[in-house]
Amino acid sequence: MNDCLFCKIIKGEIPSTKVYEDDMVYAFRDIAPQAPHHVVIVPRIHLASANEITPENSKYVAKIFEVVPKIAKELGFDERGYRVVNNCGEDGLQSVKHLHFHLMGGRKFSWPAG
Ligand code: AMP
Repeated sequence: MNDCLFCKIIKGEIPSTKVYEDDMVYAFRDIAPQAPHHVVIVPRIHLASANEITPENSKYVAKIFEVVPKIAKELGFDERGYRVVNNCGEDGLQSVKHLHFHLMGGRKFSWPAG
């Protein structure tokens, strides 16, 4: 996907503050953080949204959720807790069309979400 922002970040064509990477996943600081720690975790393959998760590619999602507690521990908010969010599509207010999960920690969140 030549015009995908997160594909460009994964390739290093757009700078990012890396938090974690492996052969399947890349994680970086969100440019507009909504919490003291706000990390965006993306699969290295381009999937437009959660709607494109299938039995063939769901290993990327599983890997992302393996990485979540690692990052939370590394950044020091695993015990206190955190929120993981996926925005999907227009109603979900997804702005970047590359599947990603927001990992946010370091403050208390409210519920229900707006
Ligand atoms: P969403 O609205 O769920 O699609 O989330 C997209 C996220 O990407 C937002 O929280 C943005 O702040 C974040 N974002 C957009 N551009 C960049 C960038 N260049 N570097 C880091 N985060 C970004």
